[in-house]
Amino acid sequence: MNSVDLIEEKQISSSGIFQTMKEMKHEQVDFCHDEETGLKAIIAVHNTVLGPALGGTRVWDYKNEADAIKDVLRLSRGMTYKSAISGIHLGGGKAVIISDPRVPKNEAFWRRYGKFVNSLQGKYITAEDVGTSTREMEFVAAETSFVAGKPAYMGGSGDPSPVTAHGVYLGMKAAVKRWTGSDSLEGKRILVQGAGHVGQYLITQLVKESAYVMVADINENNLATVTNTFKVEVVNPNDVYSVDMDIYSPCALGATLNTNTISELKCAVIAGAANNQLEDEEIHGKMISEKGILYAPDFLINAGGVINCYTEVAGIDRSMSKDLTAKIYDKTLEIFDTAAKENISTHKAALLLAESRIKDIARLKSIW
Ligand code: NAD
Repeated sequence: MNSVDLIEEKQISSSGIFQTMKEMKHEQVDFCHDEETGLKAIIAVHNTVLGPALGGTRVWDYKNEADAIKDVLRLSRGMTYKSAISGIHLGGGKAVIISDPRVPKNEAFWRRYGKFVNSLQGKYITAEDVGTSTREMEFVAAETSFVAGKPAYMGGSGDPSPVTAHGVYLGMKAAVKRWTGSDSLEGKRILVQGAGHVGQYLITQLVKESAYVMVADINENNLATVTNTFKVEVVNPNDVYSVDMDIYSPCALGATLNTNTISELKCAVIAGAANNQLEDEEIHGKMISEKGILYAPDFLINAGGVINCYTEVAGIDRSMSKDLTAKIYDKTLEIFDTAAKENISTHKAALLLAESRIKDIARLKSIW
C-alpha cells in the first residue's frame, strides 16, 4: 500500500473532486495535458496563507488518474503543515506527473512542464521529489523562475535530501532522548525502509553514530550502494514490520503505518522521512500512542528539504537552512510534551501547532 491509498477510492469517485477539495481545504487544482511531449501533470495548491505554495514534483506510474489526484491532494496538504510548523513563509502545494519514473524524459518534456508551472504565476513553486532531481529542475528553470532545488552551479540550493536526512536524524535523536533519557543512537537497532536519496544520507549518519542499521529496499541498485559502503543488515522488504528493532524509520513511500503493520511492529520509536506515513491520521496516530510507541511526526522531522528550498526562494544565506533544520530537535521534544499533556497523539499535537500559526496569520490578513 502507498500514500495514494490514504483517501479511500470511493471518497473521490462518489463525492467528486470539489467535495474532496472542500473537505481537505484546497485552494485550487490544475491539470495539464500535452500531446507533443506526452506530459500529464496535476498541480494542487492547498494553502497560500503563509506564502506561495511550495512542494516537489513527483513522477509516478499511478495505476489510474484517481490515484494521482488522491496523492497530489494529500501531499500538498502535508506541505502546508510542514512549512507552517517549520516557521518558514511558505504555503503548501505539490505536483504529480503520471508517468513511469524509470522511463527517461527529454528536455522538451521538462520545459513543457516548466511552462505549466509558470502559468500559475508564482502561486506554486516547484522542486524535486520522488522521480525528479536537480537535472530536471534545471530544464524546468528554463521556462519559469518559480522553481527551487536547482543545481548549485545555477545558484540553487541543490539536492534537498542531505538536509532532509539531517532533520530526520535530529527528530529521531529527540525521540530516543524522550524514550531513554539520552539521545545517543549507539547500539540502537534501527531499520531504514528505503535506501534512496534520503535513506542513504540517513544511514551515513546512523552508522557514524554506531547504531546497528538494518535496511530494506525493493531496488537492488540502491541496496547495493548501501551494502557496498557500510556494514548493515539487509532485511527482506516483506519482513520489515516483524523485525525486532528499537526504531522503525520509513524512508520509502507513505501509508506504511496502518492497522496491520502497527499491530505487528515491535519498536519503541518511529521516525522517518516518508510523507504521509499514517494511513489514517486520526485512527493510526491514536493506535500508535496506545501501543506505547513514540511517533515523531513525519511533516515535522522531514522538513529539512523544504527549509533548504526556502533559503533559495527567499534569497537568504544557505547556512540558515542548517540553523532552521537544527530546530527540529527541540520542536520534536515540544510536540511530545504537548501530546502527553493534552493526552492526544503526537501527530495531532503537531497538526494543531501548524494549524494555529496558519489561523493566526489568516485572521490578521482579514484585517490588513
Ligand atoms: P527515493 O525515490 O530516492 O527513495 C525511495 C526509496 O524507497 C527507493 O530506493 C525505493 O526503491 C524504495 N522503496 C520504494 N518502495 C519500497 C518498499 N515497499 N520497501 C522498501 N523500499 C521501497 O526518494 P527520497 O527522495 O529518498 O524520499 C524518500 C521519502 O521521503 C519519500 O516519501 C519522499 O516523499 C520523502 N521526502 C523526501 C524529501 C527529500 O528531500 N528527498 C523531503 C521530504 C520528504
